[in-house]
Amino acid sequence: MSEKLSKSEELKEKLFYKKQNGRLICDDETLSRADEYCEGYKCFLNIAKTEREAAATAIEMAKARGFSEFERGKQYKAGDKVYINNRGKTVALAVIGTQSVESGVNITAAHIDSPRLDLKPNPLYEDTDLALFKTHYYGGIKKYQWTAVPLALHGVFALKDGSVVKVSLGENDDEPRFVVNDLLPHLASEQNKRTLAEGIKGEELNVLIGSHPFKDDKGSELVKLNILKLLNEKYGITETDFLSAELELVPAFKASDLGFDRSMVGSYGQDDRVCAYPALTAVLNVENPKRTAVAILTDKEEIGSDGNTGLNSDFLRYVIHDLAEMQGGNGTVALRNSKCLSADVNAGLDPTFPDVMERKNASLLNYGVTVTKYTGARGKASTSDASAEYVAEVRAMLDKAGIIWQTGELGKVDIGGGGTVAMYIANMGVDVVDLGVPVLSMHSPFETTAKLDIYMCYRAMYEFMK
Ligand code: MN
Ligand code: MN
Repeated sequence: MSEKLSKSEELKEKLFYKKQNGRLICDDETLSRADEYCEGYKCFLNIAKTEREAAATAIEMAKARGFSEFERGKQYKAGDKVYINNRGKTVALAVIGTQSVESGVNITAAHIDSPRLDLKPNPLYEDTDLALFKTHYYGGIKKYQWTAVPLALHGVFALKDGSVVKVSLGENDDEPRFVVNDLLPHLASEQNKRTLAEGIKGEELNVLIGSHPFKDDKGSELVKLNILKLLNEKYGITETDFLSAELELVPAFKASDLGFDRSMVGSYGQDDRVCAYPALTAVLNVENPKRTAVAILTDKEEIGSDGNTGLNSDFLRYVIHDLAEMQGGNGTVALRNSKCLSADVNAGLDPTFPDVMERKNASLLNYGVTVTKYTGARGKASTSDASAEYVAEVRAMLDKAGIIWQTGELGKVDIGGGGTVAMYIANMGVDVVDLGVPVLSMHSPFETTAKLDIYMCYRAMYEFMK
């Protein structure tokens, strides 16, 4: 260590931007804290596989930590903790600051919906003595990845009498699972000529759900009939009730450590629970902040954030207005003075597919939480390009707290693109930059992240809101 640096080494040390593997520069205590933190994260992944389950879990965890449901007209004082539940799919959690809300709040935003297969409104049919569900995929998926993997069914039937019947089937080892079948390779010579995008088509994502016919000497659709009999016994529903249901098929596997060294996490739904869990646990740990801390866990990001539970709705705007008005302040002024970390994943550099990345600006596993100045496509279309001033502020905060971080772009300039909720929040006049965790196999049934990056994401969120 005491070896003297040469002049050029000394100057390089001073002038160059250095990107370093976080696991090399972290002490053992930090690494074991990251491991410990990810034990909770894996539990969260396993119990919160859909936006409804994630919202319910967040509210349950928040209540246990002293949060109560926000009531308009009620006065809250500094240090009070509230949550606002938007239709069971989007949740805002806030800790009231000592400064006025009008002087600005610090927002972290992450999404709790993930790509999956939704059931169509009229999904059930029988063909060749097998019963199947028709699906409509949700979000950007590579369709071929969703065949021949065990699936679990989550969601609700909303009935005409106003009651809602919850469904979760296929998560426990003693429960049945479901599958989208694929063609055997022996007979796939024609299918193999299709492009990868068309390898499995949307209308081929049909889910096998049964094969046992209702025993009768006559009649057709006896397998379908038997399925409906079972569903009627278990959930009290008839076929028409599918019309007002939201049922989602998600991979049935559990989250697990990845690698001999257990340095990574493999799971379905890490985009964006890998940022939602840090945002949630950070706001739960915030006590008496100066600026009001708001964490928002939102739905519908994967399909463009539209709809009344997406961040392109007025929900967040109303939350800030409600909080400001509670103190007699102005919501618009509050928004203008607010800052946000839009917490979403970025694409990590996969050594098997390096050609889509530009190395100098790609994020790497274990190099820390990723700050993404802009996403978008082509010439920065459809994105919020964070201002240099705001990035500087975030950079200073991260460095001061000793948080390991890196920058990332979403692939090479002309190769594709994507977006986050950052632009919708920025459009309200809030300062926003994206910050999140690099992921491999994004949007697949089993995504890869690194534990150190997840923990650093948590630390960044906490530092920002505390
Ligand atoms: Mn995302
Ligand atoms: Mn996504």
